Amino acid sequence: MRAVRREGMLMVLRPRVGLRSSPSTNNKWTTTWVNTYAAVTSTQQTWALEQQVSLAAVAAPTGNEGPRARAMQQGLQQAGARACHLDAVGNVCASFGEGKDAPLVCLAHLDTVYDAGPPQDGVVAVHRHATRLRAPGIGDNSRGLAAMLLLARVLGLPDVRTQLRRPVHLVATVSEEGEGNLRGARAWFDAAEQRGVVPYAAVAIDGPGDESIVHHAVGSHRLRVTVHGDGGHSWVHADAANPIHVLGEFIARVSRLGDARRRDAVVHITRMQGGESLTGIPQRAWVDVDLRGTSAARIDAVRRELMRLVQQLTPPTLRAEVTIHGDRPAGSLDDAHPLVDAARRATEAVGVTPRSASASTDANIPLSRGIPAIAIGAGGCGGGAHTSEEWYDDTTGARGLTRLLRLVLDLAVTA
Ligand SMILES: [Zn+2]
Repeated sequence: MRAVRREGMLMVLRPRVGLRSSPSTNNKWTTTWVNTYAAVTSTQQTWALEQQVSLAAVAAPTGNEGPRARAMQQGLQQAGARACHLDAVGNVCASFGEGKDAPLVCLAHLDTVYDAGPPQDGVVAVHRHATRLRAPGIGDNSRGLAAMLLLARVLGLPDVRTQLRRPVHLVATVSEEGEGNLRGARAWFDAAEQRGVVPYAAVAIDGPGDESIVHHAVGSHRLRVTVHGDGGHSWVHADAANPIHVLGEFIARVSRLGDARRRDAVVHITRMQGGESLTGIPQRAWVDVDLRGTSAARIDAVRRELMRLVQQLTPPTLRAEVTIHGDRPAGSLDDAHPLVDAARRATEAVGVTPRSASASTDANIPLSRGIPAIAIGAGGCGGGAHTSEEWYDDTTGARGLTRLLRLVLDLAVTA
């Protein structure tokens, strides 16, 4: 999960599949039943933490998740998943229940961002200081994966499995982070669409925490603008057009777009490079642009403005080339949507005040396709995500696990 923050006015995407309000609050039997199976014991909390530590120790940088995927597959099988396989892109897929209703999908990403470079021999050291654990990926997303294993254990209980009115698919996804571009989630939902499966809802389990409900998916569009020319001697060919000067003007215009930006779209030049020598007119220069927003329409409008600027600023003697480096679709669920409401009730049930949030997670994919989706944390607290100093504290870990189990059981059994 990345860059969670509150949002003001946001686009509301009308889902193809509407959720009905859960009747669980009116049904004493199901409420008692959910209370029984969702209450996480201290033994379960300890077990989940052990799974989290052993998964964090298996390196899984984006694009190289194989060893962790196999560990996760083994964990899901041991937890009671009958059919558990790796799909074509390396996602670990397990299912529970044979209910005929549209399935519920829970996603947790396998990959980790390593700022400190690749670990030695595929093993990541997990350090312990009192109640605090430190390792890259310990929270984002070893915590989410451990919560998924606990979820599998509960869904695998005969008394729970037989009550599921809809199948629950657990999917540990590859390539959620950075330039992975949500490849795993995209592939899973593509395959479901090809099979004619329209999920009832999707819940991404991402990182620690037990209060935020991400129902605004931050989309992004990353592109590189490269300007090519003949170059030349900076005195002899003084009239030759200069790619760096063109990009300098482009940067200035983009920064002014920023002045007028609205909260639903943000654009930044994030990297630049160019030139071959101190005394020559460059033959090539480039800049990277990172455009983000919660509204697909706004992202598209700013993207078109960037293209217009490139065209307008490039003289006929130079050649501009735009390459796409990433594209994550945006989407949003209204505050009053039944899925958001179900998550809010599950949060309040564990004594926590729910908070709306926006982020870029695996939930972007279903949301952008009209499938109701949210992302929530997997309990405990943490910080330093995407750095080598990432930490996690399990003191309140049981609370977030209970919230997740309540939500899933509510959606899969009573909704
Ligand atoms: Zn994450």
